[in-house]
Amino acid sequence: MNFVLHGSSVASGITVGHAHLVSSARLDVAHYQIPDAAVTAEIFRFDAGISRAKQELALLESQMPADAPAEFGAFINLHRMILEDSSLSHAPRDLIRERKCNAEWALVQQMETLVEQFEAMEDPYLRERKADIQQVVERVLKALMGDKAPAEPQLSEEHKLIVVAHDLSPADMLLFKRHEFGGFVTDVGGVTSHTAIVARSLNIPALVGLHHARHMIREGELLIVDGNQGVLIVDPDPIVLAEYQLRQSQHELEKKKLRRLKTTPAATLDGAAVELYANIELPQDLAGVHEVGAQGVGLFRTEFLFMNRKDLPGEDEQYEAYREVAKAMGGKPVVIRTLDVGADKALSGNSQLMPNPALGLRAIRFCLAEPQMFLVQLRAILRASKHGCVRILLPMVAHLHEVEQALAFIKQAKEQLDDKHVAYDKGIEVGGMIEIPAAALSLPMFMKRLDFLSLGTNDLIQYTLAIDRTDDAVAHLYDPLHPAVLHLVAHVIQTATRGDIPVAVCGEMAGDLALTRLLLGFGLRNFSMHPAQLPAIKERVLRSSLAEVQPLAQKVLRSSDAAKTRELLAKLNA
Ligand code: PEP
Ligand code: MG
Repeated sequence: MNFVLHGSSVASGITVGHAHLVSSARLDVAHYQIPDAAVTAEIFRFDAGISRAKQELALLESQMPADAPAEFGAFINLHRMILEDSSLSHAPRDLIRERKCNAEWALVQQMETLVEQFEAMEDPYLRERKADIQQVVERVLKALMGDKAPAEPQLSEEHKLIVVAHDLSPADMLLFKRHEFGGFVTDVGGVTSHTAIVARSLNIPALVGLHHARHMIREGELLIVDGNQGVLIVDPDPIVLAEYQLRQSQHELEKKKLRRLKTTPAATLDGAAVELYANIELPQDLAGVHEVGAQGVGLFRTEFLFMNRKDLPGEDEQYEAYREVAKAMGGKPVVIRTLDVGADKALSGNSQLMPNPALGLRAIRFCLAEPQMFLVQLRAILRASKHGCVRILLPMVAHLHEVEQALAFIKQAKEQLDDKHVAYDKGIEVGGMIEIPAAALSLPMFMKRLDFLSLGTNDLIQYTLAIDRTDDAVAHLYDPLHPAVLHLVAHVIQTATRGDIPVAVCGEMAGDLALTRLLLGFGLRNFSMHPAQLPAIKERVLRSSLAEVQPLAQKVLRSSDAAKTRELLAKLNA
């Protein structure tokens, strides 16, 4: 039967392939009573299931490819910790004893209790961890039910397989990576879930939040995953299939052509140089940065070094990571953002509930509230600065006193290194992220104290339009083209440029092809984005004329009518 499902795109591109259903055992668990005499054996069976799941995780870890993203190891550790926790490894034994029920049923009952507790948590990061519990339980259920691992999928010459699952554990994705699946789709999961984070690193078209795909799709059915539009087409008719196959081959061809631009300097048709930088989360992302010929790292989100672990990375460990990036970039700029935790990015063991996390102790506020942690990071960054061109970026500044305090900590960190005769770049530049409307509207005071600015449009939009960027219910209100957003963005670019302070955009707007010309027209000359987006943005820059885009961008800025804005944007991109 031919039908279409809509979800959220996690990774763009088009893929055509046959469905490979990944079983969701917990949905089909039987419930039966066991006689008194069988209780001990049932508990033994439960323990064996837990042990087998542990062995599987150990096997996954030992088979982890050397180039696997660091998150994989962290996910396996997290799943192992969940397995070892008594609430999962012991509580079901009591249920088996008390209720005389089968091991699977006891496990699912306990899972539901835990999931309920996680669902009630206010911290979105912790709330999302309920998916990890479900994935671990599913692994144990498969072991208990003697579920064989999915049969080795047979890749057809013509089409790859597309994984269809209720949910996917990042650890399982290691196997998918080995099998070169063409794409994957899941019923649940937000675009900020662990699975989504790993999905992006796999670079295959992927959709989440399809709700009923796992139930509606049959094994082997032909699917089209359109990661550009967030659409899944099931059992397409021949005309649609032919159309998508054409689009897919055009897309592949385009990607190949774009790769040739790797060493071409980015400049507009009228000769204005444009700098294109890459955003990274971990040193492992450097391969992608080199592949596209980025001019540097415009945003290193260091908080990813701090996640999914119980302890904090010490000064030496951080130094190694920053040095690796600085050295690998061979003198090209590397902008290292100090820890931006809080809101949806909580540190383990630091999950005290805040009434409103997005407006709470986040980013620079957190750094200033934890001076020792901040100083450790600053010393690590400073030490790495002698290995390349390193810059420090302060996240989410709103008040001048925050910048003053941060600069005082940088001075203190330098003095601590001086005392020990440790070398660093004495002239290291310090910039600030403009991602709160208050900062955008009081720019000159920041320009006096900082060497450069970086516009974090993801948060600027969140705070301007008062919508939580992680909340599905208001996702449709997240609008980069809202006049207030555009005014703030243009104002920051123009004010900084007039004041001769370098300004970049490092939020998602910088990698959005539909907005490249608009931003060029506002005067932006420095874009930082996910490496995969860079070649297409470069090509757009090469085909843009400032003389043409500037007047249109000004018209967009004057428009307060959404339809008119979109019409002008279409003209700009024609
Ligand atoms: C932003 O807010 O635009 C940004 C780049 O920072 P992050 O997405 O890490 O909050
Ligand atoms: Mg931000």
